[in-house]
Amino acid sequence: MPELPEVETMRRDLQKAVGRKVITAVEVLDPKAVAGGPDSLTTGLAGRHVRSYDRRGKVLILRLDDGRTLLLHPRMTGRFQLLRPHDELPRHARVVFHLSGGQRLVFEDPRRFGRVELRPAGEEEAGTLLCRIGPDATRCDADRLREALRRRRTPIKALLLDQTILAGIGNIYASEICYRCGLDPRTPSHALRLPEVRQLAAATEAVLSEGIALRGTTISDYRTVGGRSGGFQKRLAVYGREGEICLRAGCPGRIQRVVLAGRSTYFCSHCQRKGRRRK
Ligand SMILES: [Zn+2]
Repeated sequence: MPELPEVETMRRDLQKAVGRKVITAVEVLDPKAVAGGPDSLTTGLAGRHVRSYDRRGKVLILRLDDGRTLLLHPRMTGRFQLLRPHDELPRHARVVFHLSGGQRLVFEDPRRFGRVELRPAGEEEAGTLLCRIGPDATRCDADRLREALRRRRTPIKALLLDQTILAGIGNIYASEICYRCGLDPRTPSHALRLPEVRQLAAATEAVLSEGIALRGTTISDYRTVGGRSGGFQKRLAVYGREGEICLRAGCPGRIQRVVLAGRSTYFCSHCQRKGRRRK
């Protein structure tokens, strides 16, 4: 599933590849892919172009020149591909944006959970996911995070996945963030002291920015707009490494897998410690 670094890579690629090209027509191949129905896209987008390419968490926010906004939610397997005039449509194409110059931007999505949503001017957030999610996880404020953690007994790894607290972290990066700051992912959130919360916030920013620099993590479906794999899968320290030796210098531990809140969680029980404050 694309997480923040993958969606940020999509954002950068779209900005570069599509830029200010004019949308000449939109074809909806799968009505389910469009929140609010296909007519909202097929009528009225011709002649428009994207003025700015933004993102919050795992949502792409494309602001159009007429004040309206396109929200793009890749969810499980959604991704974008830029096709030249004679390229064939990919098998799982859901929405096709025809662009000036003959190129097509295709939203493809094998699992069909992704959505495209056109919002009226001035109503970018109302009634959408954007008003329910927290600040983007690339700006992880330790004091705010501490407030969110202190009254919860949820394991910190599950809390990192809570999009209302921080937007953008998914299952792969949550395990990597806990490893980076040396905290056991099962630690109850309220057990963290302020210095540990600061380490968690710093690790969050560091891991996500490395993920962005390497253009995301490809385990199965994720590809960049240019059709390439990301590079961060080669840097994963714990995710998917069950039974392998811990990479931390001098640590004799092996990577374990446990299930937290229904999701696989990887960590080294030798060098990742529980929070110090106990109740
Ligand atoms: Zn270790």
